[in-house]
Amino acid sequence: DAKTRGRDSFRKYHPAMDEPIQDHLILENDLRKALKNDEFVLHLQPQVDMRSGWIFGAEALIRWKHPQQGLKSPGSFLPVAIESNLIIDIDRWVLGQACDLIARWRTAGLGDLRLSVNVSGQLFAHDNIADLVAELILQSGIRPCQLEIELTENTIMQNNLKTVSHLSRLKNLGVQIAIDDFGTGYSSLSYLRNFPIDTLKIDRSFIRDLTEAPSAIAITRAIIALGESLGLTIICEGIETPHQKEMLMDLGCHHAQGYLFGRPDTLESFTRRLQRQQQQPAPFA
Ligand code: C2E
Ligand code: MG
Ligand code: MG
Ligand code: MG
Repeated sequence: DAKTRGRDSFRKYHPAMDEPIQDHLILENDLRKALKNDEFVLHLQPQVDMRSGWIFGAEALIRWKHPQQGLKSPGSFLPVAIESNLIIDIDRWVLGQACDLIARWRTAGLGDLRLSVNVSGQLFAHDNIADLVAELILQSGIRPCQLEIELTENTIMQNNLKTVSHLSRLKNLGVQIAIDDFGTGYSSLSYLRNFPIDTLKIDRSFIRDLTEAPSAIAITRAIIALGESLGLTIICEGIETPHQKEMLMDLGCHHAQGYLFGRPDTLESFTRRLQRQQQQPAPFA
């Protein structure tokens, strides 16, 4: 994962290596300006029911419209944002944008779509996340269940007690909670009993290896069974080929996100796709 990789490679920089530090400071400064100058945008990737192809939700993925370097992916700037705690302001911005977007879809008659937002451990450790989200919901007038918050297993494990109370408060608001990159973090499965989770997103690495590694099939099958018996929604991340889609449907997983169904795309383009879908009869899958 680019995020964690970036974080680790940062730790390796020795104080004597001043060039990376210099780069870091420049990037940190640019990120601060980017927030002020509104240079971030959200791209959206559809989440579909594979039986019908119906889009039931989307994940918001941040991009940076860099004035000189063009569109930058999160892997190139989130590690520094995390190091410098700027991620808290970025996450707040993303949450605000997401709520506004859900409200606009509503007004446009695009209905009940759920929007997922990635939230960092930093914001989560911050005492106000439930207050912040409550306020945003009130301001935008959205139905709370249309907002889903994605966090990783590591975020959950980082700050156990605090996280439990934050999650419970978010849950009480009616917000959905998803575990991102499920199966890749350092975690004990027991947290699944104590945390009010709705969705597990099976990490892309398992999906990628499905066709070659029997172990990936075994793990994916086990996650699906676990999720089902706990009454959770399972979403498979990173489906790229029809073969992977078939295998997952055979394993009983129907909800997916991946290039096969759509790459992250601009708001305008994603909204056009929603409008086309709206003109079709809804499937009863
Ligand atoms: P993630 O939350 O696991 O998001 C899924 C990533 O997988 C996205 O990369 C997406 O473009 C990519 N992806 C989706 N389908 C496929 C596929 O079929 N094949 C392949 N190869 N990749 C696929 P992206 O947009 O570069 O984001 C990377 C990570 O950055 C995200 O991983 C998430 O951890 C973080 N991130 C993105 N946006 C935000 C944000 O607004 N806030 C925070 N805190 N983190 C974010
Ligand atoms: Mg990831
Ligand atoms: Mg995610
Ligand atoms: Mg993921």
